[in-house]
Amino acid sequence: MTKISGKSLIGFREGAGTAAGFHGVNPATGQKLEPPFVSATSEEVELAARLAGEAFPVFSRLAGREKAKFLRTIAAKIEAIAEPLIERAEQETALPKARLQGETARTCGQLRLFAQLVEEGSWVNARIDTADPERKPLPKPDVRSLLRPLGPVVVFGASNFPLAFSVAGGDTASAFAAGSPVIVKAHHSHPGTSELVGRAVQESVRECGLPEGVFSMLFGSGTQVGVALVKHPVVKAVGFTGSRTGGKALMAVAAARPEPIPVYAEMSSTNPVFILPGALRERGEQIATGLHGSFTLGAGQFCTKPGMVFFAQGGEAEAFKSKLRQAVSQPQSFTLLNSGITSAYRESLGKRKQNASSKLTVEAPPKEGLAVGAALFETDAEAFLKEPELAEEIFGPSTILVEHSQRAQVLEIARGLEGHLTATVHGTEQDLRDFADLIAILETKVGRIVFNAFPTGVEVCHAMVHGGPFPSTSDGRSTSVGTQAIFRFVRPVCFQGFPTSALPAELQDGNPLGIWRLVNGELGKK
Ligand code: NAP
Repeated sequence: MTKISGKSLIGFREGAGTAAGFHGVNPATGQKLEPPFVSATSEEVELAARLAGEAFPVFSRLAGREKAKFLRTIAAKIEAIAEPLIERAEQETALPKARLQGETARTCGQLRLFAQLVEEGSWVNARIDTADPERKPLPKPDVRSLLRPLGPVVVFGASNFPLAFSVAGGDTASAFAAGSPVIVKAHHSHPGTSELVGRAVQESVRECGLPEGVFSMLFGSGTQVGVALVKHPVVKAVGFTGSRTGGKALMAVAAARPEPIPVYAEMSSTNPVFILPGALRERGEQIATGLHGSFTLGAGQFCTKPGMVFFAQGGEAEAFKSKLRQAVSQPQSFTLLNSGITSAYRESLGKRKQNASSKLTVEAPPKEGLAVGAALFETDAEAFLKEPELAEEIFGPSTILVEHSQRAQVLEIARGLEGHLTATVHGTEQDLRDFADLIAILETKVGRIVFNAFPTGVEVCHAMVHGGPFPSTSDGRSTSVGTQAIFRFVRPVCFQGFPTSALPAELQDGNPLGIWRLVNGELGKK
């Protein structure tokens, strides 16, 4: 299972291997990695879509325990190849081994969390309103509903999480859990890693006796293979993590279809941090150290990287700023994931350096190839409010400090924010009382508000929200991390007047699955 052929996986088959290929590249050395990878042809896109469409009626009706077995099988198969998988991922991404080990564990952990969710079964939100033939003036019908999968889902693997947001990552796990076949458009930054995981999923489909179309994984460019998949009539939803340009392009393709479909795109986010006066007074230097660790984590290539930091000017800010400048000036080198991300980082820094409204206060010495230094910019609230560029995401190890002289400015900044995945507040409980108005604004701007910590770690759990208003995502009503991610790929279906024997088990009289249900407005296991 650790063979890498360079070919797409279409159901149980391999793509044809004749056309000129592309290579994975080691970002640390620039070395091309073997073997070459071959893009899927339009016939292969068609085949993957047809197989997914054929698999849907069977897979969508699979019992929760069967889906759980499938998800756990994938996790076990990934664990079984962890060593060669991590080695290949390290070559393709230059991410540290410890990070990739953690990401492997997270990937398997989230597959198992979804397994638990579907095995328990209450996630389907079963609702039952029983009939009342005696009701006047009209009899009340028997009405029952539950959540059912949308249909085949296309997942675009992310560059920055080669495992946890890629082939068997959160989007795929949640779509499988919902009962949707998945076609992955593999990211060109880590093709070998993608194929190894893809084979683990393919083997799991086979071992669990599922139809082959439950999973395919295609190599090829976004504009060809990706767009063809999103346009295909069999496909009913899209999961994407990447740039705002890419996400918006796919939203437009999906909206222009004869039958428009939802695109759940997680795009750009600058993740504002607010350091309130009590926190700055009590532990400014400690916050500076934590902030530096957070915005340089993973070379700053996290969608939750804190990219702008707000605090009041004055004596207490000095120790914080000086500690941060000192940390950034260390000659530390960060290797970015690919040449596209590196040139985007260099261009963004160049643009911001030219912007007269901010000044670059510290930049670690420039590096060669895909290695870059961290950069710290500083400005004041007045300039920040006038200059929208300063709020844009720079993907890489950089952040901007924004000092304000009046409390009103921080509220004005918060009101003017676009949608972000997170906002972070450092403060005391007294600060929280004093800035209740700020928190109320932030609640309308982000998916997750973090208190006295940093936003880069995203816990995979039932309550997590990794989403936010546009442009951080295409649909702020959803999350792409945690078990609530399953709700992106389902819709409610209602059965009226059906005999109990013809209903899905979740809705039958006597509650044969023993799940939580809302029966005549009362939540219970009746
Ligand atoms: P990307 O360029 O958006 O690519 C992501 C995926 O979408 C790739 O598979 C790509 O295909 C495809 N794609 C891109 N543009 C497309 C289009 N117009 N039509 C169809 N498919 C398209 O993102 P990336 O490669 O991960 O990184 C580039 C930038 O994205 C970064 O500099 C950063 O700004 C941003 N980013 C943000 C996050 C976040 O979570 N906020 C995460 C990662 C990256 P190809 O294989 O053809 O490129």
